[in-house]
Amino acid sequence: MDAFGALYDHIQALRIIDTHEHLPFESDRPRDADILSEWLIHYFSCDLVSAGLSDAGLAFARDSGKSLKERWAAVAPYWRAAESTGYGRSLALAARDLYGVDHIDAKSIEELDRRFKAARAKGGHYQFVLKEKSGVDLAIRDAMPTPYRETDDPFAFAMSVNDFISPTHYCDMRALGEEEVVKVHSLGDWMETTRRHIERHVDGRSRVVCLKCSLAYQRGLRFDKITQSDAERAFNEFFADRNLPDWRSSFKAGKALEDWMMHFVCRVADENHLVIQIHTGLQEGNGNFIADSNPTLLSNLFLEYQGAKFDLFHMGYPYIMELGVLAKNFRNVFIDMCWGHIVSPEAARRALVEWLDAVPANKISAFGGDYCFVDGVYGHQLLARRNVAQALAQKVADGSFGLDRAREIATWLFVDNPKHLFGLERLLE
Ligand SMILES: [Zn+2]
Repeated sequence: MDAFGALYDHIQALRIIDTHEHLPFESDRPRDADILSEWLIHYFSCDLVSAGLSDAGLAFARDSGKSLKERWAAVAPYWRAAESTGYGRSLALAARDLYGVDHIDAKSIEELDRRFKAARAKGGHYQFVLKEKSGVDLAIRDAMPTPYRETDDPFAFAMSVNDFISPTHYCDMRALGEEEVVKVHSLGDWMETTRRHIERHVDGRSRVVCLKCSLAYQRGLRFDKITQSDAERAFNEFFADRNLPDWRSSFKAGKALEDWMMHFVCRVADENHLVIQIHTGLQEGNGNFIADSNPTLLSNLFLEYQGAKFDLFHMGYPYIMELGVLAKNFRNVFIDMCWGHIVSPEAARRALVEWLDAVPANKISAFGGDYCFVDGVYGHQLLARRNVAQALAQKVADGSFGLDRAREIATWLFVDNPKHLFGLERLLE
């Protein structure tokens, strides 16, 4: 057997850790979903729009109350244009291996929909897709249920810190303060609320295993060092007459407050040795400022908060080389390939081939599905397993290391690295 075949067999047999998902709990999935309304929630829908589908056309395609045949006809030319992207291939793999449909087209869409609905009606679909077909032992879900409650497998949780760094209304701050038995009137009260919320949930005993920041969707990732008086002035804006009543619409926190609170969150993470997952690279949706998401903008945080661990998402795509440099350079920076294998399978392979030359192999987590619907996770993990096998086979072929080392690295990337980084051993016994 060639190196690829040997590595693919090894990787296919692994029970893997999934570092990042947005899946609803199975019982919370919308009752009236059909194949197009669910599969076009995100990702491939963006490729359809990129291919030329109008906003109205996408809304029509997502409307499960309308005729499936007509909705298919409306998206078909764009589907055809985009079906060979990573997103498209992920769905094609799910259709083939979960529902026995070899090609998604006008002839098969109704049968695919019937099988999709039958699988939901039967129940146990998460168990089937995540555990049996995808071989996922544990997935870190973004975000934890609020208020937090313990749930069973297969989820651990990330705690979003966005609302603490970038609050949007005093009434939300007051409510979060009440949860932590703090009356919020000053910046100091807000910091105390934030600290208590983090330390109460991410305590090394619950299933909440890390923090998560996705602010690169709405601002640049450079968080400057701010004086307390400037942060306090920005905080007090929430108490201006025009903002204070509960019925007034929400309000954009000033950059000074966001910068101050991001530093404070990193400080709490530093003191408690917590992992912070940070969105870097491509933002989901159509249209954003990619330069906001450059992971090098976070360097001052890596330097200042050396006890915190920064798990940088999405391969930093397109800032793949930059992310490699950061992971090579900083003890507390880790590469997370979540979402990456479907954004561009080729970029994921190329990145891994390069990183394995520059970055120690204990710094990379290979897989996070990053889907809002469970069927996508299957296609993504299959692409991820293939990509890693191909990248490692290339390293074996060019003499970088032997097959045994390649197998060892594969197990580290899919299992041991995320298990150690997030302290998941206690949840997997
Ligand atoms: Zn995500």
